[in-house]
Amino acid sequence: MTSDRFSRQSFLGENSQPSIEQAVIGVVGLGGGGGHIVQQSAHVGFLHYRLFDRDSADTSNLNRLVTATEADAEAETLKTELARRRILSIRSEATVDVFPCRWQDNPENLRGCDVVVGCVDGFAERRELEIACRRYLIPLIDIGMDVHIVGDEPPRMGGQVILSMPGALCMTCLGFLNEASLAREANRYGDAGPRPQVVWPNGVLASTAVGLVVDLVTDWTRSMRGPVYLMYDGNSHTVTPHPRLVYHDGSPCTHFPVHQVGRPVFTNL
Ligand SMILES: [Zn+2]
Repeated sequence: MTSDRFSRQSFLGENSQPSIEQAVIGVVGLGGGGGHIVQQSAHVGFLHYRLFDRDSADTSNLNRLVTATEADAEAETLKTELARRRILSIRSEATVDVFPCRWQDNPENLRGCDVVVGCVDGFAERRELEIACRRYLIPLIDIGMDVHIVGDEPPRMGGQVILSMPGALCMTCLGFLNEASLAREANRYGDAGPRPQVVWPNGVLASTAVGLVVDLVTDWTRSMRGPVYLMYDGNSHTVTPHPRLVYHDGSPCTHFPVHQVGRPVFTNL
């Protein structure tokens, strides 16, 4: 059945397509990043989705939201519906469960996902999502971008792709989340203005995340065995391993001790 449709990705391995088709992928945040994630996941052939976003499309999304049209912005269509529509237009047999609400209101809905991609705003939201994914022993891939403007210098565009694996280094271990940045964000809340977001870094970061998802599910590279921390430099258009991970001394995560989870450890996919 899949021989023609997926022939160009058969290098992923003999059992790769069944693995992709059995996996349940969760996507939290269906805006600039999440739109690319669902679109590419459908092309790759994923069949089972759980999608979380309480927002609807508006005109200010059209600079980056690949699932939306001008008519969607006009109609203020829910982003979960836009994602579902795009997935089903590519992969009509897919099962798409949508949750157009705060995922925190019922984190149990994350349970059963084989991998979660987080495309959320802010450090606090990332920490909450990581806590939930650790609790359910789900690998979490976090993506995000930001733009910093200092003086008269050109704006600096940056971003990250992090794979937070249960039992391995977390986003706090990796130095991405820390009390200082969380406190700064809490103080700034409400008057920071809209966060800069543009389509091309969203695409780079989301494509990288989909690549990690496919690697996790198929193990085609036979090399991904630990956490991933990639940094994106939007000014030089590069994605490179973050030095914090490259030079990490190998000590285990102390923030989410495996013995506190109380369930079998998820290791060595
Ligand atoms: Zn940690």
